[in-house]
Amino acid sequence: MISESDLLAQVPTQLFIGGEWVDAAAEETLDVHDPATNKVLATIASARADDAVRALDAAVAAKDEWAATAPRVRAELLRSAFELVKERTDEFALLMTLEMGKPLAEARGEVAYGNEFLRWFSEEAVRITGRYGLNPEGTGRMVVAQRPVGPCFFITPWNFPLAMATRKIAPALAAGCTVVVKPAELTPLTTLYLAKTFQDVGLPAGVINVFTTHFSRETSAPIISDPRLRKLSFTGSTEVGQKLIAQASERVLRVSMELGGNAPFVVFEDADLDAAVEGAMAAKFRNIGQACTAANRFIVHSSVADEFARKVTERVSAMKVGRGTDEGVNIGPLIDDRAVETSRDLVADAVAKGARVLTGGSAVDGEGSFFEPTVVADVQPGSQILTTEIFGPVLAIATFDTEDEGVALANDTDYGLVSYVYTRDLARGHRMIDRLETGMMGLNVGVVSNAAAPFGGVKLSGLGREGGLEGIHEYLSTKYTLIPTT
Ligand code: NAD
Repeated sequence: MISESDLLAQVPTQLFIGGEWVDAAAEETLDVHDPATNKVLATIASARADDAVRALDAAVAAKDEWAATAPRVRAELLRSAFELVKERTDEFALLMTLEMGKPLAEARGEVAYGNEFLRWFSEEAVRITGRYGLNPEGTGRMVVAQRPVGPCFFITPWNFPLAMATRKIAPALAAGCTVVVKPAELTPLTTLYLAKTFQDVGLPAGVINVFTTHFSRETSAPIISDPRLRKLSFTGSTEVGQKLIAQASERVLRVSMELGGNAPFVVFEDADLDAAVEGAMAAKFRNIGQACTAANRFIVHSSVADEFARKVTERVSAMKVGRGTDEGVNIGPLIDDRAVETSRDLVADAVAKGARVLTGGSAVDGEGSFFEPTVVADVQPGSQILTTEIFGPVLAIATFDTEDEGVALANDTDYGLVSYVYTRDLARGHRMIDRLETGMMGLNVGVVSNAAAPFGGVKLSGLGREGGLEGIHEYLSTKYTLIPTT
């Protein structure tokens, strides 16, 4: 395994524009921290608006050649990047653990998951098809083709530094689009290392451009309002997504939005409780609870709620908290102290309204931003934890008595990303597919993500889908031509 210092020495610290590593014009920098120790890992370039526009210039300069590059060539480049990321699994995993905090085993899981988008879309690049046929009158031939949408701008969050980037970059490149990527300022190193990996496999200059910055708004706004940009794809909070949609509306820009979640995890009285507990551990504690797909509300039938709470508390109280690089750690640090405060405040509010803490419930003293893995039961209606995205290792249990009541509670949110349902009744499972207002559902399973899945939400959780057969269509636009038959 590579040492931390050797790895950090390999990670670029500049902006990647037009195939070159360059300093920010104003020579400003930003520090990247390890949330487990609060120590500085690296000091990297911090772009201003001029740098961001230069990145777009490079994507625009490369767009025609990349769109005209044979699909097989685009596919092979994505495939080569997949192979090299795989070879660099240890490096990518350690880098994510260092800058984001997730346990190393989970970071490896993210490398496998995130890298699959490169493989999946390398396979999709050569399967972009159209239609050809007669019009109903028989007077014309209709040709329907799919064209690359054009230069894209991606803004990504800190919680899955590799996967959130590859889930956008891979379909865009497969479709023939060039891109500018702005990773989150908290975890930019993984994206810089990914750009280097693409450079190492020979991706032509300007196809991917990356800028890192302290100044998200100032750098993003001029790109979004630039008439040369054709697509904005964002993953992050609903609040920021709404602002970006408003900015994008000025130029009627195509947008994809992967926003916040508030996933219900519904356990019916006929569920296999051991399976439900297993699913709950994955759905809640993966990524230290900092996932848009994290189960936010456990809605458990009152007849099995005590047993579910007891079994899950046994598992949660045995979890090991620590730096993600340490052996056997299940719960790393939260991203910053503000996140610790959020978890603490949500637990305090739930308790004030009648909930009971079964394990955990407090911040961990000492260096780093740690919060104990926590279970709170008997959460009462009106508690903030039911309406707020927790983004921490807190499992909150509320109860219901009838199926209609369970469904009403599950749907009682403005979000609609994913739901989880545990039942052994097949007919009920199918009813839940129809009745739960979410873009995705796990039926007797706690993790739904994979590269072949159309990932995305409804309601305030967003617009568009990433991955699956649908994913590439976010980067294609339909061009219809009519040719008279005579
Ligand atoms: P965030 O919205 O604070 O930041 C996301 C990105 O937007 C970062 O790169 C940030 O620098 C940038 N940003 C912030 N303000 C901006 C502005 N005014 N203009 C342009 N860019 C701006 O979100 P976060 O805290 O990084 O991520 C957590 C959120 O992301 C959670 O709500 C989570 O549910 C969501 N998320 C959603 C998905 C999904 O697929 N639906 C996946 C992962 C995370």
